[in-house]
Amino acid sequence: MAHRAAYSILRCLHNGPITGALQQPGLVQLTAAAAAAATTATVRQQQAFLLHQLRRLSTSLPSADLDAEVAVIGAGVVGLAIARELALRGRSVLLLEAGPNFGMETSSRNSEVIHAGLYYPQGSLKARLCVAGKQALYAFGEAHDVPHRRLGKLLVATSEAQLPALDRLRAAAAANGVQLQPLSGAQVAELEPAVRCVAALLSPTTGILDSHSFMAELHRQFEEAGGTTAFHARVEGGSVGGPVKRLRVRDAGSGEEVELATAAVVNAAGLHAQAVAASLQGLPPASIPPLHLAKGNYFTLAAGSLATMGPGGSPARFRPLIYPLPEPGTAGLGTHLTLDMSDGVRFGPDVEWLPAGTDPRNIDYTVSPARAEPFYAAIRAYLPGLPDGALQPAYSGVRPKVVGPGQPAGDFVVAGPRQHGVQGLACLFVIESPGLTSALPLAQLAATRLDEPPA
Ligand SMILES: Cc1cc2nc3c(=O)[nH]c(=O)nc-3n(C[C@H](O)[C@H](O)[C@H](O)COP(=O)(O)OP(=O)(O)OC[C@H]3O[C@@H](n4cnc5c(N)ncnc54)[C@H](O)[C@@H]3O)c2cc1C
Repeated sequence: MAHRAAYSILRCLHNGPITGALQQPGLVQLTAAAAAAATTATVRQQQAFLLHQLRRLSTSLPSADLDAEVAVIGAGVVGLAIARELALRGRSVLLLEAGPNFGMETSSRNSEVIHAGLYYPQGSLKARLCVAGKQALYAFGEAHDVPHRRLGKLLVATSEAQLPALDRLRAAAAANGVQLQPLSGAQVAELEPAVRCVAALLSPTTGILDSHSFMAELHRQFEEAGGTTAFHARVEGGSVGGPVKRLRVRDAGSGEEVELATAAVVNAAGLHAQAVAASLQGLPPASIPPLHLAKGNYFTLAAGSLATMGPGGSPARFRPLIYPLPEPGTAGLGTHLTLDMSDGVRFGPDVEWLPAGTDPRNIDYTVSPARAEPFYAAIRAYLPGLPDGALQPAYSGVRPKVVGPGQPAGDFVVAGPRQHGVQGLACLFVIESPGLTSALPLAQLAATRLDEPPA
């Protein structure tokens, strides 16, 4: 059985960013026999690492029949945080990622904002996990040198008619334990001369972070705690009904399929979580929530645009992030201004619903320049100095949503045995914003629900 585990994992392990020695293409082709025949120092180093990983896995397993105790599917920020949490709780964890590296899908296509927790209904998972996640993320960033900045955020009302909505937002935030500071239009003009509004709320706990560094640190801690990562390892199906879960995993390098056996499975496949769940025999299809996809497009500022965006054509600089009020019924937060860690200004994301039934494997992430027009109108409502021609298409991300256009936003779905009836299985669905902010407590919740008995 040890050989079986060795074979499975040797076929899958490759190209991990942490395992620098593994970065040579073709390593996935190594079988145990080929590895033994290898002669160069680098390959010996690679071989030693792999054998070390295998020994570590096989000695910590509850049964020799298993390749790992828990398989986590998907190495986005959520899968990484869960894999780390489980490894820190002493479980032997195999992290299976279809792509060549971690965080290459939605987790690298977002605004990198540490949300304060203003918008979400009191008591919802989004509200609770966002507020807890924000605090956990700042502490994590401090402790592990993950670059982040507590810039704050201005929520601006651009007409008297919006003032009641501003009040409602303040009350909703307070219900979530988030205090916002009211500012007059004149106070905002002092703080941010380029911004025009009649009143605003300042959220002092909103910030930004370098999400790649965050994920790299989660991955480092996961592997340090004994976890193993397989990149290019796409889960194509399996069975989860019994005490031993079996996953069919396709090696993207060789095209070969292997079967892995584990005692527990966590499905954190992001936009593909519903498809992965549907491919797992033993999980009741009725427990899989619907999936609607809402693309969010971003635009950046052309070089030199800031030089004239202040009052009377003066230079502008932005410190807090600037958000208009959410537009009711649009499923977005309004066309807002965020900053990246190098002070780059970006606008968006907007909301572009993808046609019902769109396969998340076929998403076109291109940003159409034609979408700039509504951006100009929305941004000029609070930044009248935005010059013509300043907006350039940047990138896009896609939100997995449980409800479609025009309906009130849904909550995160973290389904364990108590929710779907299958022991040793947790599925995370529709982890849209604020999933990045919420990643650490989301991981704790998933790890706890995984171990609950069915209802
Ligand atoms: C436009 C936009 C803006 C956002 N802005 C913010 C923000 O500012 N702040 C915030 O807190 N949140 C934000 N979010 C939300 C945040 O980005 C997501 O909640 C988070 O990235 C989701 O992470 P994930 O791990 O669930 O998904 P992903 O990052 O998509 O990871 C899923 C992984 O699973 C892998 N996978 C899929 N199928 C398989 C398979 N069959 N086998 C193996 N692996 C598989 C994929 O390759 C991928 O790496 C935003 C989201 C969007 C779309």
